[in-house]
Amino acid sequence: MPETTTTDEDAAGGETEPESALATARRQLERAAAHVDVDSGVVTRLKHPTKVQQVSVPLRLDDGSLEVFTGYRAQHDDVRGPYKGGLRFHPEVTADECVGLSMWMTWKCAVMDLPFGGAKGGVAVDPKTLSDEERERLTRRFAEELRDVVGPKKDVPAPDMGTGPQEMAWFMDAYSMQQGETTPGVVTGKPPVIGGSYGREEAPGRSVAIVTREAIDYYDWDIEETTVAVQGFGSVGANAARLLDDWGASIVAVSDVDGAIYDPDGLDTQDVKGHDERPGMVSGYDAPQSMTNAELLELDVDILIPAAVGEVITADNVDDISAEMVVEGANGPTTFAADTILEERGIPVIPDILANAGGVTVSYFEWLQDINRRQWSLERVHEELEQEMLDAWDAVREHVEADDLTWRDAAYAVALSRIGGAKETRGLWP
Ligand code: NAD
Repeated sequence: MPETTTTDEDAAGGETEPESALATARRQLERAAAHVDVDSGVVTRLKHPTKVQQVSVPLRLDDGSLEVFTGYRAQHDDVRGPYKGGLRFHPEVTADECVGLSMWMTWKCAVMDLPFGGAKGGVAVDPKTLSDEERERLTRRFAEELRDVVGPKKDVPAPDMGTGPQEMAWFMDAYSMQQGETTPGVVTGKPPVIGGSYGREEAPGRSVAIVTREAIDYYDWDIEETTVAVQGFGSVGANAARLLDDWGASIVAVSDVDGAIYDPDGLDTQDVKGHDERPGMVSGYDAPQSMTNAELLELDVDILIPAAVGEVITADNVDDISAEMVVEGANGPTTFAADTILEERGIPVIPDILANAGGVTVSYFEWLQDINRRQWSLERVHEELEQEMLDAWDAVREHVEADDLTWRDAAYAVALSRIGGAKETRGLWP
């Protein structure tokens, strides 16, 4: 399921026609603008990206033939600092999708008060069809095609779907070779041996856990009495589940793409292996009960954490969601229509742009470490991430309380007021 195409819904709330990520992002911007005292011209400007670079990426395949792929880099806004956002290798990458995702990065960086703007890019390719050598050549050529628009002070890419630390290492090497100097700060999400940050990999899951813990506290629940279901036991889901388990919550269900496992007494999450650790191990685990991913979403638990893919809570299943609260680990797991119904039902949804923002926050730490040429310890990364998450949580909570907003509207209001303030103060040039 593509995680970036959401669905349109009528006033009646039905899921009808597919809506592009860009259309959704613009609609969310309009909704957020109603809660913030921001110039309407600023909102109009924010509906449009600064620049969208489209490039051809020729690749010599191992069999000697040549194929040309299309790559993109959408740069949405940089009023608060260099553009920041992932590069994905996925067959469904389009210019519009990159623009929509780049807008979400602008809000995510602003809600965390990071000195970055938003960007997103990628190549329309299925990386599973490429050998390691082909992926390396593709990444290096893509880096060369983007060389003029990226850089530590301009635009700093990171891993996304279909890319990881190795692609970032190739990208950084290709850029550095052409620039004539080692430039680790051109990308984040690199392996620590070449300037990557310790703790980057587990950071989005860690931030999901921190925000969930704060939400439990906010609603006066007892974490020891809280049951949690986590869809997706990958990087985000497994790290979030294991930390919450450590902090006393009862993780009763987790899943991977093949299905879910359930134990009403709580799973031993350290014992359940993620897909990377042992493929098929989640659904193959010896738990009291197994179920489908759809059934996991409908479990009667205190907290549901969708941490796999987008668009899993829709108008079609939202009435069957029994959780008391949703914390978004994945990007865009709740459609616009479902979000409205959850709001009507009084079920709080802690939004993705806050909950999983630990990833971009530790990317910011990585960028700082690269610029200063000094690596931080894992302990320092954890401490600073904890503080950044608590600060962001407090800023959003204040809007929830003061203006009686949903958590999503409050997060957008925080982001938009910071961006709008910067734009109004800098003014429009010339
Ligand atoms: P991952 O590949 O490590 O794990 C994904 C998990 O979801 C796996 O357990 C997989 O088996 C399962 N899964 C895949 N398709 C599924 C489906 N259709 N139904 C149910 N389960 C399915 O991915 P990740 O890095 O953990 O990312 C998960 C989500 O979090 C994505 O939406 C991603 O964009 C978002 N996110 C990731 C990061 C990051 O840095 N890793 C940061 C922010 C947001």
